[in-house]
Amino acid sequence: MTTHYLSPGPSRLPDEVRSRVHAELLDTFGYGVSVMEVSHRSDSYAQLSHETLTLVKKVLGVPDTHVVLLTPFGAQQHFSLLIHHLSSPGDTISYVNSGVWSGLAVKDAQISGRKLDMVFDGSSFGYSTLGEPDKYVVDPKSKFLHLTVNNTVYGTEYPQIPTHLPVPLVLDMTSSLASRHDIPWEKVGLVYASAQKNFGIAGMSVVVMRQELLEEADQRMAQSGLGDALNYAKIYAKKSALNTPPVMPIYIANRCFQWIEAQGGVPEMERRAQENAAQIYGEIDGSFYLGKAVSQFRSRHNFVFDLKTPQLVEDFVSEAKENKILEVRGYRTVGGIRASVYNGVSQASAKEFVSFMRSFRANH
Ligand code: PLP
Repeated sequence: MTTHYLSPGPSRLPDEVRSRVHAELLDTFGYGVSVMEVSHRSDSYAQLSHETLTLVKKVLGVPDTHVVLLTPFGAQQHFSLLIHHLSSPGDTISYVNSGVWSGLAVKDAQISGRKLDMVFDGSSFGYSTLGEPDKYVVDPKSKFLHLTVNNTVYGTEYPQIPTHLPVPLVLDMTSSLASRHDIPWEKVGLVYASAQKNFGIAGMSVVVMRQELLEEADQRMAQSGLGDALNYAKIYAKKSALNTPPVMPIYIANRCFQWIEAQGGVPEMERRAQENAAQIYGEIDGSFYLGKAVSQFRSRHNFVFDLKTPQLVEDFVSEAKENKILEVRGYRTVGGIRASVYNGVSQASAKEFVSFMRSFRANH
C-alpha cells in the first residue's frame, strides 16, 4: 500500500527522484564515489554545481537582470541577512505580517533597529486574510517590502503578487518557489526559499537577487560587521562554493529541478497544484469541514481546516493514519488539520486524501 505523506516540510520527494537517488547513491559519477563523499573541489562537483545553477535559473525563468545563488542556510538565516544586504542603519524597511514565518521575519527587522513600516498586520484577523494587497501602501523611502508568498502554517497565499508598489519586493517563497510561474521579476529585489518543500531536502537555500542590488549590497556588507561568508556577493563570486557547500542537498535539488523540467516545468507544477486545491477545497466548502482561510487567499499547498469537536480532529488524524495518510495534524499553535501537497506528492495521493475526507464526512 502506498503511503500518502502530506507533511508541511520536510516533504515527499517525487517517486522518480527517490528511485533515481537510490540508484545513484553509492556510485553517483561513474567511478565508485558517492555524492555523500565527493570533494566540493572535484571536477564532478564543479560540474554538478554549474549544472544546478544553470538549471534553476532556466526552470524558474530568472531573467539576466538577476543572479542565482545556492547557499547553505535555511530561510530563517535569510530573514536577518537580507536586511543587512538591502538596508543600512537608519533606513526604513516594510513588512506584511501574515503568519508565523513572516512574524519571525518581522522580529528580525525589529532586532536590526531599522525603522519598521508595517504595511498590513494579519494578527488581528487570526491570519485568515492578507487584507487588500492591491491597495497596500508602502513608505516610498523604504528599501524594500517583504512578503511571504505562501503562509505554510495558516494556509494563505497571494493569488497575485502585488506589483503596484514603489519599492523592490523581497519574497519568502520557501513554500511556493518552483510551483508558481508568475514571479514579477521586474519588481523583485530578492527571492529566497529554503529547500524541503517544492524541491530538495533541508540544508540549502535558493537565493535570486537583482544584480545591481548585489553590487550595492557588497559595499553595505563591508560596513555591517558581518563576515564575508555571510555576504551574498562573496558567495556569488565564489560560484556558490565559498565554504564547503551542502553537496547532498544541492544534488537532490538538481534531481528535483530536472524532474520538474521533464514534467513540463513550473507551469505544469502550478496546474497540478491548482487542480489538487480545487478538489480539496471542494470538500472543505461543504458544511462539515471548517476552512480557516478567507477563500480569496487560500493556499494551493497547505490545506488548513478544523472540525466541530476536538474528538473529531483526533478521529480524523487516527483514521487518516489507518489509511496511510500521514502528517495531517495542524501546526501546534493552530490546532485542527493541515494537509500539505507540494510538487513531490503525486496527484493520486491528493485524490486519495479527497476520497478519505469524503468517507470520513459520511461516517461521522
Ligand atoms: N518561511 C516559510 C514560508 C516557511 O514555510 C518556513 C518553514 O516551514 C520557513 C520560512 C523557515 O524555514 P527554515 O526552517 O529553512 O528556516
